[in-house]
Amino acid sequence: MGTHYHITVVGPESGDFDINVEALQEAVEEQLVEINQMMSTYIDDSELMQFNRAPVNEWVELSEPVMEVLTISEDISQRSRGAFDITVGPLVNLWGFGPEMQPEQVPDDEALAAALARTGHTFLQLDVNRARRTNNISVDLSAVAKGYGVDQLVDFLVNRGFHNFMVEIGGEVRVIGDSPRSTPWRIAIEQPSVLAGGARLALNIDNHAVATSGDYRNYFEVDGVRYSHTIDPTTGRPIRHNLASVTVVAETAARADAWATALNVLGPEKGMALANAEQLAVYMIVKEGDGFTDTQSVTFSQLLQ
Ligand code: ADP
Ligand code: MG
Repeated sequence: MGTHYHITVVGPESGDFDINVEALQEAVEEQLVEINQMMSTYIDDSELMQFNRAPVNEWVELSEPVMEVLTISEDISQRSRGAFDITVGPLVNLWGFGPEMQPEQVPDDEALAAALARTGHTFLQLDVNRARRTNNISVDLSAVAKGYGVDQLVDFLVNRGFHNFMVEIGGEVRVIGDSPRSTPWRIAIEQPSVLAGGARLALNIDNHAVATSGDYRNYFEVDGVRYSHTIDPTTGRPIRHNLASVTVVAETAARADAWATALNVLGPEKGMALANAEQLAVYMIVKEGDGFTDTQSVTFSQLLQ
């Protein structure tokens, strides 16, 4: 997934079992390798890349995890009216953020139109254990796979008998039970220094996931314009609005991850309106003039109490 991961587990209170950290790490990495082999666009023979090369209109049988991620993605595409769209692969490559590394430049209109013509989640059809492309689309799971990986590791650790732990992949976090201090886990949200006197917002959460999407990490600049790696599927262009970051708290990391990207595409007004309509817990940091302001959905403010 091109990123780092971090896991904290709280050991057993009695001598139920000993933690062999090295063996545990090895088992965790086996899981991650497996997920990459299913969902990465950077592995040429991953299950996903093979699907992306399958003949148009031909049904392809897929593994359960891939079907699950495709199903979650389709649900959030529909709920976000297409703002979240995993068929943006050709556009992501065109703008130089995909596996086909390209120079940092603004593509010409013709290339943009060609990539847009092969974009659209309605060209992806799902059926219980199989899927098909009804156009030459290319699926990119980057906006949801990190979160899904977190959920998989959570299940893995629960099955191993752990009750208190935290899993994080590339900034997407999920916690179970209590922290090592026997208190709820506290998750800090990075804030620009001008907000709240530089203090970070910290959330006490139990058994939830937190994901953040923002324009401050992965972007390039040409002539003073910042081009984000988040693409608006309706225009085919990187998003251009004043949302600095959006944080979503949800039951699973896959949904939190996907929603964060979806709301980032929609921007501060439409995104917050949808967050409230969907009763999502959402926190946004919005650029305003030289500074920043922050806004919260109703459900998020209830979490803070
Ligand atoms: P962020 O933390 O900024 O949300 P993610 O890694 O979760 O970053 O998602 C960004 C990645 O998702 C991009 O690099 C691209 O591969 C893909 N992507 C870009 N735009 C969209 C979109 N509108 N819907 C789904 N995936 C997208
Ligand atoms: Mg995301």
